[in-house]
Amino acid sequence: MVIQSFGGIEGVTGSCHLVKVDHMNILIDCGMFQGLDEDKNYEPFGFNPKDIDYVILTHAHIDHCGRIPLLVKQGFKGKIVSTRATYAVARIMLLDAAKVMLEEYKVNYKKALRKGKPEEAKPPLYDEDDVFYAMEFFKIFLEYDENYKLSKNVEIKFKNAGHILGSAYVELTAKENGVRKKVIFSGDLGTDDKLVIKPIEYPKTAEVLFIESTYGNRNHRPLKDTILEFKNAIKESFKDGGNIVIPTFALERAQEILFILRKMYDNGELPPCKIFLDSPLAISATKLFLQFPNQLNGEVLDYIKKGKNPFVFPWVYFTESVEASKKINDIESGAIILAGSGMCNGGRIKHHLKHNLWRENSSIIFVGYQAKGTLGRQIIDGAKVVKIYGEEIAVKARIYTINGFSAHADQSILLKFIKSVKNLQSVFLIHGEPEVMKVFKEKVEEETNLKPHVVKFKEYIYIN
Ligand SMILES: [Zn+2]
Ligand SMILES: [Zn+2]
Repeated sequence: MVIQSFGGIEGVTGSCHLVKVDHMNILIDCGMFQGLDEDKNYEPFGFNPKDIDYVILTHAHIDHCGRIPLLVKQGFKGKIVSTRATYAVARIMLLDAAKVMLEEYKVNYKKALRKGKPEEAKPPLYDEDDVFYAMEFFKIFLEYDENYKLSKNVEIKFKNAGHILGSAYVELTAKENGVRKKVIFSGDLGTDDKLVIKPIEYPKTAEVLFIESTYGNRNHRPLKDTILEFKNAIKESFKDGGNIVIPTFALERAQEILFILRKMYDNGELPPCKIFLDSPLAISATKLFLQFPNQLNGEVLDYIKKGKNPFVFPWVYFTESVEASKKINDIESGAIILAGSGMCNGGRIKHHLKHNLWRENSSIIFVGYQAKGTLGRQIIDGAKVVKIYGEEIAVKARIYTINGFSAHADQSILLKFIKSVKNLQSVFLIHGEPEVMKVFKEKVEEETNLKPHVVKFKEYIYIN
């Protein structure tokens, strides 16, 4: 068996690992590059898509599935393997990605035209029709812990990664020259403590492990404390009127926040308010959660068993249309607005920030990571004035930054994951910033007898 990585190595986006075994070419994830690496999406894959027999998709985050339609456009004829929930989530995520790319292209094209260089605007990687066509290639749906034979000598199994709805890590077992070896590809790992979905399930045995290291250098604040911090921010914010704006990622975080608000409502802790889920993608995602009850944790299931919707109660409004979204701007007090994008660099959230940032009695509660260079980061870094749609907006609202919500495993969980694997001979680090991977590598060496290897772009890794 030989493994080569084409993305999601030193950096956390563009996940794409090629496994050659038993005359098959198997791709683990086919993600989009994002942020500073975005241009890499326009480069060739590094292999021929026509030669790929299977894509095994760990989860539906765009940096893990975002180039699947492109793979299909370039001749992929194989089969995609995923959980049913991942298929459903990937569909809405990819359609959204196609829409966002088209919108960005229109804006960039106008700019490039004015510059006299229309060719500088890069066309979208694919459109909605390409997504619909690509979805036809999802042919094999597996439950967690179900064995599936890709060939006589190769078998795979998904285990619950506890990261997002449908997420899995892959155990690939291959028999070569009479020797059986199990390799684990972690995808993205989640945590022990989950608000909405079931927590991570640890592996038992394997010889080889490819493990993500996104947060290999730090530990998150406990979830319990984070929820308390969030609840206090909500209560404090409404003391002197105003609105609360919460930039949220559509998948997972939006549902987690709605579930906390639902419980506050049921306990009589929530001050009277109107809650707007102002994101078509988040609305679709929220509906999907109810279709996959086997993915949900006990507390959320209890709600469903009692006939209650864990995310929707009388004070919650789904604002799907642009008109309904714009109407929220007229509200001066008592609204909680959940909108994307999560880092405030696009989407409806920018309008809500424009209408609320300058108000002293409004609050902005950040519940997710804000990358460098985003509007969200400027605000949490203490900017006094920010530019939104070319207009200068004073930052007078109260700003809360709550860091403990994360869909990702932290250092302690990653270590626990590694330590849980019996017979482990080799660990390969992927999916992390180089400085973070260095810290994590040292930590693993300190706590185990293993010597992890940091995987490089296109490097051949032989497992025999
Ligand atoms: Zn992910
Ligand atoms: Zn990832």
